[in-house]
Amino acid sequence: PVQVRVPAIGLVVLVGITGSGKSTFARAHFKPTEVVSSDFCRGLVADDENDQSATTDAFDVLEYIVGTRLRRGLLTVVDATNVQPAARASLVRLARSHDVLVDAIVLDVPEAVAAERNRERPDRDFRSHVVARQHRDLKRSLGRVRKEGFRRVHVLHGVDEIAAAEITRER
Ligand code: ATP
Ligand code: MG
Repeated sequence: PVQVRVPAIGLVVLVGITGSGKSTFARAHFKPTEVVSSDFCRGLVADDENDQSATTDAFDVLEYIVGTRLRRGLLTVVDATNVQPAARASLVRLARSHDVLVDAIVLDVPEAVAAERNRERPDRDFRSHVVARQHRDLKRSLGRVRKEGFRRVHVLHGVDEIAAAEITRER
């Protein structure tokens, strides 16, 4: 198994393109209430998890929920693509402002795998250029994410490493 040690109290930021398996990974390793997803928050403010015009409002809500949980000392996982540095920077700032550790878990799957999975999804209608752009952002991110203030950056390369991951909560 691939050991992934995350803070028992703190923030875990998932990073991965659409279809990389973030929500599936989060479901497998964390309690439902520990996971806050951008899609869920988009649904809350727009009645439509795919309404991209609701993104700013959705992230305001996401940060409010995450901040509240961190203040209350609860492990919290952010399930959003987070392939852009600015998105990660906001979350690092949020963790800092609550004096908790923040780790990143990067799901680095081939673009073709993610695209193939997305084709099968009734809940997603991303054009291939969106996935391609996210993949470009992710690859760029790999070179800089270790300098962004995360305590640890766990990069899971490929489907097999993701499947072999075991999460340990550090006390
Ligand atoms: P999004 O950013 O669009 O929310 P995501 O990263 O959360 O995407 P998931 O919803 O977890 O991705 O997975 C996308 C699709 O791929 C789903 O249909 C899911 O069942 C499938 N999938 C996820 N992980 C695996 C896996 N390890 N093996 C096979 N299929 C998988
Ligand atoms: Mg998801």
